[in-house]
Amino acid sequence: MATLEWRSPANEMAVQQFESAAQKLNLDPNVAARLKRPDRALIVSVPTRVDDGGVHVFTGYRVQHNDVLGPFKGGIRYHPDVNLGEVSALAMWMTWKCSLVGLPLGGAKGGIACDPAELSRNELQGMTRRYTAEILNFIGPEVDVPAPDMGTNEQIMAWIMDTYSQHKGFAVPGVVTGKPVAVGGTLGRREATGRGVVYTIIEAAKHLGIDLAKCSAAIQGFGNVGSVTAKELAGLGVKVLAVSDRSSAVTNGKGLPIDELIQFKEKNPRLDKFPKGEKFPGDQLLELKCDILVPAAGEMQITRENAGRLKCRIVAEGANGPTTPEADEILRDKEVFVIPDILANAGGVVVSYFEWVQDLQNFFWTEDEVNKKLREILTRAFQEVLRTSQKEKVDMRLAALMLGVSRVARAMLWRGLYA
Ligand code: NAD
Repeated sequence: MATLEWRSPANEMAVQQFESAAQKLNLDPNVAARLKRPDRALIVSVPTRVDDGGVHVFTGYRVQHNDVLGPFKGGIRYHPDVNLGEVSALAMWMTWKCSLVGLPLGGAKGGIACDPAELSRNELQGMTRRYTAEILNFIGPEVDVPAPDMGTNEQIMAWIMDTYSQHKGFAVPGVVTGKPVAVGGTLGRREATGRGVVYTIIEAAKHLGIDLAKCSAAIQGFGNVGSVTAKELAGLGVKVLAVSDRSSAVTNGKGLPIDELIQFKEKNPRLDKFPKGEKFPGDQLLELKCDILVPAAGEMQITRENAGRLKCRIVAEGANGPTTPEADEILRDKEVFVIPDILANAGGVVVSYFEWVQDLQNFFWTEDEVNKKLREILTRAFQEVLRTSQKEKVDMRLAALMLGVSRVARAMLWRGLYA
């Protein structure tokens, strides 16, 4: 009997999605059995000196799902709910995402169960450096390249890069992506995920014959992905009616002034104190009447309970895994057009790939080059997914998964089983 330590609601969901794609593809059962589980899953203890002088031991994870296409790649999350199952699900989604958009990379994810908002800068730095030391032998530019995710940012990436480099004795910028430009980061990485979400929304609007300048949007989560998506949508003339974060939500029927809201958020922890909007309960955001809904926070937010009450035309998944398989069925029946996570938010890993390539070559690109190449890749991927969904008569999620899974499976069969 297999031990499945990584079982969790998020992982069950990722496996269920994979199984639908595997079934539709008639996937070789031996290949499928391997792809349902990660290549390697690491749990580490992260003793950290805290400001009162004591030591707190955090739990950290790094899960590497599959590297048949190239080195592992995936973000690091700092959040109280991080656990082995969630990280394993996120690692699996990374494998399909890299494959779908044609990157020579595999899927991984990492994280530490902690609340970064409760930690001082010193504590965050100490915890990050010790976590890096604990996973040091499992990461590297040719092995596994972490990046930011929920609760982490370019400062955390700079500490990881520095810790890794101190151990090696020389600068190794290619060990992480999403770094500050000053230490080998790329222009356009911080904005890449949100920008990518909007590039896919533009393609969806073209396909559906919708004029974006007449559209409204609601965005759950106002962090890196949510705030950049809001800014880019507002730039296209979309009225951003409401945004939320984990503490509160704010709305303005005339459209929120996004630049002012971003500046306000930099100084104020709570969105609902924003003077140019009205506060409302965050759990109602998903059910607001709008054209475009962007979940950009956690997993399993659109469920069988609330999916029937959604009143949008497009769901663009900035977050990973925000919609459960039961909710997918309901949205399909309601003819809501879902741009699935592995397509909608792939902009982050695409520009992470550009950053890694630039670091390996020590040759850096302009922001225009980055954005142009990003848009080409995402537009091509969107069209491929749309064509597959029409040809196979399946929804956009299943089409995206079929493309992602089939390329990985084909590569596995070419490489064969080393035993
Ligand atoms: P972040 O930490 O910058 O922001 C997360 C935001 O979500 C914060 O504003 C937080 O308050 C809010 N939030 C958390 N729980 C919430 C809830 N229940 N309701 C409303 N808001 C809530 O994180 P991020 O980097 O923007 O990541 C957001 C999502 O996008 C995650 O699912 C992540 O995996 C995914 N993603 C991120 C990237 C990236 O490049 N950062 C790339 C691909 C996918």
